[in-house]
Amino acid sequence: MAVTEPAPVELPPAHEGILRRQALRESAARTYARSLPIVPVRARGMTIEGADGRRYLDCLSGAGTLALGHNHPVVLEAVRKVIDSGAPLHVLDLATPVKDAFTTELFSTLPREFADNARIQFCGPAGTDAVEAAFKLVRAATGRSELLAFTGAYHGMTAGALAASGGATDVRVTRLPFPHRYRCPFGAGGERERGADIAARWTEYLLDDPKSGVPEPAAMILEPVQGEGGVNPAPDSWMRRMREITRERSIALIADEVQTGVGRTGTFWAVEHSGIVPDVMVLSKAIGGSLPLAVIVYRSELDLWQPGAHAGTFRGNQLAMAAGAATLAYVRENRLAERAGTLGARMLAALQALSADHPSIGDVRGRGLMIGIELVDPEAGPPTVTAENGSAPPPDPALATAVQQECLRRGLIVELGGRHGAVVRLLPPLTLTDEQATAVVDRLADALRAAERSPYRRAAAGPTR
Ligand code: PMP
Repeated sequence: MAVTEPAPVELPPAHEGILRRQALRESAARTYARSLPIVPVRARGMTIEGADGRRYLDCLSGAGTLALGHNHPVVLEAVRKVIDSGAPLHVLDLATPVKDAFTTELFSTLPREFADNARIQFCGPAGTDAVEAAFKLVRAATGRSELLAFTGAYHGMTAGALAASGGATDVRVTRLPFPHRYRCPFGAGGERERGADIAARWTEYLLDDPKSGVPEPAAMILEPVQGEGGVNPAPDSWMRRMREITRERSIALIADEVQTGVGRTGTFWAVEHSGIVPDVMVLSKAIGGSLPLAVIVYRSELDLWQPGAHAGTFRGNQLAMAAGAATLAYVRENRLAERAGTLGARMLAALQALSADHPSIGDVRGRGLMIGIELVDPEAGPPTVTAENGSAPPPDPALATAVQQECLRRGLIVELGGRHGAVVRLLPPLTLTDEQATAVVDRLADALRAAERSPYRRAAAGPTR
């Protein structure tokens, strides 16, 4: 007798239920999940597979964390090795062979002059924890509490890091102008070096004018390429000026390399482009090989804080240290920083070529595989010359949002950033192939064409300036 199968019951796809429950149960503060409604279930290299069976090229890479992409074999092997060895997974800040190997590998990648005389502090697991530790260190070492930070900066979400970021107005932080070629705060747009020179002069002036109202600071914190601020690379000459200015005035220079580190910008550490040696480096994201890990490395003369000055339960993540050591070694051995430099330059050129046909591309900028495309509204009347915009057309965040959604439809995950959320950001893994790089540019170009045709502007939430 033939057995008839019962007709399958039509259930909503599993991913829809998961997304619905997330929207109901998770915080209103959730971020990426809002613009990227996908449910990752598998991932390898640059590809993520969603619960709906769709595949995506991931150009967000865990906000720049995944130097080797998802689940790289050397990372998986390093993690398995620790688990199979029976080593404790939780060890506070005790010494272990895994930590020893991580520190040795990390120091071998740092600029020699810096590493030869450096100390490392393992911090809480996130980049922002390391930023807090850096502030505490320099305050303890100098006895001063004030900090210098830059417009457009992003250093994290805990109180001190947030105070040093661009949106804040903490009285203990003096805000200085970060050079910006496209939207030069001094109206020198296009003349990058001139804008950077004025920014440096302003910094010197404020520090030396006895009536500037700026108290003597403990440190200056800067990103060699501002990431969240809209992918703004600092000119190398300006970086050297900041180093001179801080050295001459005994101000500690903190380089926040949370996002720029581990080959991302074309050198292993972004400070290498300018050749400067900072006093403190803040490191996180890629150093944990996709698992949470954050450290500060600093000139040993600054090591004047007290035992226990910066404690914390989760500073000994063995799996992260093993994954991180494997990642650092792989990037170093396979010269992935160089690869990021050449491939990034090629992608930048392709995107710049695209801008010839798209007046909505205001600027294409970046360094290595940290790339930003600033979208503007060229039809918003004649270019308005304002202090912020110079003669650049106003930013178009609604178009950027539409581009992000069209990219997702085409199987490409991109992030938005910048002051107005109008910069499409690309942070692919350093392992991406030439073919994947071409696919990213093609999908993005196609998404831009579709977004330009869509009625996004009428749906825009409000004025962009
Ligand atoms: N500094 C920089 C330069 C960053 O880009 C970030 C994160 N985007 C942070 C600090 C903070 O890192 P986390 O999100 O891990 O706290």
